[in-house]
Amino acid sequence: MASQKFRKYYVRGSTLPFEEDKTHEFKGHLNLCQEEIPPWAQETKRERGSRKPISRNLNAFLNSGLGGTVFLGVIDSGKIFGINMTKLTRDHFLKSVDNLMRRYDPQVLPHQYSVRFTPVVDAKSTQEAIVQLLEHISSEELTDADKERKHIFRTSNYCWCHKDATARYNSGVTSTDFVLEVIIKPWDDHDPRNPSLGEDERVRIQPYYNNEEGKVFFRKQASVVQYTICDLVRMTRDEVQKKYDEEMDRLKQRYEELLRKKALVDGS
Ligand SMILES: [Zn+2]
Repeated sequence: MASQKFRKYYVRGSTLPFEEDKTHEFKGHLNLCQEEIPPWAQETKRERGSRKPISRNLNAFLNSGLGGTVFLGVIDSGKIFGINMTKLTRDHFLKSVDNLMRRYDPQVLPHQYSVRFTPVVDAKSTQEAIVQLLEHISSEELTDADKERKHIFRTSNYCWCHKDATARYNSGVTSTDFVLEVIIKPWDDHDPRNPSLGEDERVRIQPYYNNEEGKVFFRKQASVVQYTICDLVRMTRDEVQKKYDEEMDRLKQRYEELLRKKALVDGS
């Protein structure tokens, strides 16, 4: 399933070959929703440099219809540093994304997003060491007990899996740094699995998604903007108008075509 365009690993300290734009966002933290932002980093506590939940970027990528990727473990300039993660904390993150997507209204379906973990290696790593690392990562498996155990989401407190990671680190077991990519797929009019506004199957319209805060964001170049209800009503009206105008044009053409055919029959 892995496409050729995806990298097998990133080099620490290197820079991504693109900047933040309409479909790319870089983040240095893993806080998906507002509840996960530690108190010291919240907007109310800090005027500048406060953390914004990743959810707002994902929401904006969905609503813009173009999709996009949030890269985690990458600073604003595009420089890669990676985030240290164990197999368990990776599983935690995957499940917390699923949890978040189910809190949107409408819910975001599994085929509309994906998460990738790409290891980060040191520039001086040998090819052999890299191959070993990649093999090690692909061989790591969760035990049945680990799969059963519930992770704790929507809090800035540590989950059991984070405490386990700290204990491993303290006992000298090293784990790998990763760049995480949370990928939102572009909206596809023709995918019958995608939710559509209205009941007319011929006129499929992308819904706007409320995030878990009940807010709706859009992507404007390299930033996100929150839209008001008035904005959304106006945009929805325009969009519905446009789609129905297109459908009306198609029907008019078909009608005229039938009239011409009928005239031929009548005239013969
Ligand atoms: Zn956990």
